Amino acid sequence: MKRSLRHDFFRLLAAACVVLIGALDGFAEQPIRVVTTLSTFADLAKAIGGDRVDVASIAPAKFNAHFIEPKPSDVLRVKRAQLFINAGLDLELWRGPLLDAAGNVSIQPNQPGELDLSRGIQLLEVPDHPVSRAEGDMHLYGNPHYWTDPENGRVMAQAIADKLAEIDPAHREEYKQRLQEWTARLDAKLPEWKSRLSAASPKEVVGYHNEWPYLMHFLGLRMEAFLEPKPGIPPTPKQIERLETYVREKSVKAIVQPTYVPRQAADSLAKRTGATVVVLCQNVGELPTCGDYIGMVEHNVASLAAAMAP
Ligand SMILES: [Zn+2]
Repeated sequence: MKRSLRHDFFRLLAAACVVLIGALDGFAEQPIRVVTTLSTFADLAKAIGGDRVDVASIAPAKFNAHFIEPKPSDVLRVKRAQLFINAGLDLELWRGPLLDAAGNVSIQPNQPGELDLSRGIQLLEVPDHPVSRAEGDMHLYGNPHYWTDPENGRVMAQAIADKLAEIDPAHREEYKQRLQEWTARLDAKLPEWKSRLSAASPKEVVGYHNEWPYLMHFLGLRMEAFLEPKPGIPPTPKQIERLETYVREKSVKAIVQPTYVPRQAADSLAKRTGATVVVLCQNVGELPTCGDYIGMVEHNVASLAAAMAP
């Protein structure tokens, strides 16, 4: 009898250990809590992290990401985040206050839980003289809209894979594998995208806000005239008049704008000149056809190609 009691005790203990180990294991397998500023970065983080990550993004794709007002629920998410992926520079003018409000030390700039994707990017339009926001400009450290160039997409995906492996080294191989698969899909499209507008003439395109220099650089196009007289300053009748002359002189065919700014200025310029308004996605999810990063680039390249066909 005594022996049987002892036997039962050890069996119970063994069962308890199995449950405990299972619970600890389950805890260790909790997905990494990732918060991104942009939906585009969230799409990349999901592609590379798979079911190892739980990703939320802050800026809705249909809004201007410079001027988002984070909600209390965003502050809470950032407070609990293990990885905070952002564009850096002065893209998210709300990033500093959000980080202050969240008070999460591990995801502050240059901490292990922070990933500023601008760091690996060759920036365009870095000012060679001091500029201030008082002049209306808001790209003080170089143009921050770098993710629109698919070659930068590859750099960003690599940076995300490296960071996930650093945070979660046990699954390094998984991240590497997903990165390879994703990059192979991107690389398969790059030559076709790159040559798609090589015959376009003229090369000039008009934009609303100066947020496409990286895509233009990739496609071999030029966008040097904008409906905004300065980045962040809405179009004025005088600016539209100025552009009318420019569009006629250069025979510009495309006026590019995202979904989240009013269309009147672009429509008015198009009506006066015969150019076409082309709605491109600045971020993943802005239009149904821009459901993921590769789909977004495809939409942008195809839309420009259609408007600029000879
Ligand atoms: Zn901008």
